[in-house]
Amino acid sequence: MTRIPLVAGNWKMNGRRAMAAQLAAEVAAGAPAGVEVLLCPPLVYLDTVAAAAKGSPVCFAGQNVAATSDGAFTGEVSAEMLVDAGCQYVLVGHSERRTLFAEDNAQVADKFCRALEAGLRPVLCIGETLAEREAGRTEQVVNAQLEAVFSRITAAQLVGAVIAYEPVWAIGTGMTASPDQAQAVHAHIRARLSGAFGAELAESLRLLYGGSVKADNAASLFAGADIDGGLIGGASLDAETFLAICQAATA
Ligand code: PEP
Repeated sequence: MTRIPLVAGNWKMNGRRAMAAQLAAEVAAGAPAGVEVLLCPPLVYLDTVAAAAKGSPVCFAGQNVAATSDGAFTGEVSAEMLVDAGCQYVLVGHSERRTLFAEDNAQVADKFCRALEAGLRPVLCIGETLAEREAGRTEQVVNAQLEAVFSRITAAQLVGAVIAYEPVWAIGTGMTASPDQAQAVHAHIRARLSGAFGAELAESLRLLYGGSVKADNAASLFAGADIDGGLIGGASLDAETFLAICQAATA
């Protein structure tokens, strides 16, 4: 099955309005054909970014979402609000949310389900720490992160969702999983999807790799049979670099 590659730029908590507008305009103008390009700007700049990319096929995502519907939850942003602001996707369970904001697998699953209910495509971020990898627990950790979500949804609900494998030890560190390491975990994730929901769905879903992807390592990572693009942090803050990574995903 042919899967359209997806490259997402997670800007995290970086930039100001002018920078956001310029970066979005440059990405929109240069986005290559043959790859879906997704921007995850800081929420307050979503309107600016959407205006700057207007008329282009670039899509937008929130970096996080509330686990509840609208209501008295000061500081939170609901899935419906993200839809209203023009998002098609939302990241859930990014390792910085898990580590710095203590989101556990159950909360991540709540957020995943809320996103689905609101019509957003969740990008479920999973991955092991260095200690877990060195202890030979990578598959066990990834299985638990997947199972927390899989146990809450049906195959039909999963259509259009995305899973991003992001080894925690590779995020923002300059350490990248080797293409073989990344492909091995991606193949494992697809096998778990197949076991839980059937081969057809498993083959249709896009699995992204994230963790210090740069212009010079993107092509070798994306060459993996089960790697359908990337979730890019630091390197997404420079339009030329990000576009080179997008280009690598089209090969
Ligand atoms: C990320 O934030 O999801 C990420 C992969 O960051 P970086 O590319 O900077 O490692």
